[in-house]
Amino acid sequence: MMATTHAAMGVCLATLVLPVAPEFAVPAALGAIAGGVFPDLDVAVVAHRRTLHFPEHYWLAVLAVLPVAVVWPAPETVAAAFFALSAAVHSVSDAFGGGLGARPWDNDDQRGVYSHHRGEWIPPRRWIPYDGSPRDLAAAATLSLPGLLLFGSPVRELTAAMVALSAVYVLVRKPLGNFAARHDL
Ligand SMILES: [Zn+2]
Repeated sequence: MMATTHAAMGVCLATLVLPVAPEFAVPAALGAIAGGVFPDLDVAVVAHRRTLHFPEHYWLAVLAVLPVAVVWPAPETVAAAFFALSAAVHSVSDAFGGGLGARPWDNDDQRGVYSHHRGEWIPPRRWIPYDGSPRDLAAAATLSLPGLLLFGSPVRELTAAMVALSAVYVLVRKPLGNFAARHDL
């Protein structure tokens, strides 16, 4: 799944704050966007969907920071709680996407997301066939509705920018993958 799909998923979770403590909804959403994108920063380092992806351990961070946000509600604590929650949901949901490899639509790669707890790769279930697939864009767009409709600035603008970015990525995903495969990148 695209980082933007995960970010939008995080904003959906942050909408839970709206009826309870609307004054913290924006920090919650911004924390969730950052936490939704964060695990995929490992695409730039050695091992994508492994180095910063923790399907189990991020939940320990959620258990640590969520009570802090409840007892001491402040923009920082609420943002931290939703950062952890969004990173945790991201890491788990990558198992429902496609495999790694340059051309994940070939279904030739059985690495969904790495479980540091089990010491092995969780196989991809391919509900979203691969990152940047049309279904991924449909998911990103649908999950972006709360960010677009229920939030004001800057969450609405950020969400709109992420939907636009996702659409561009989906257009170039296959040419990029084919290029990478041809040049063994
Ligand atoms: Zn990921």
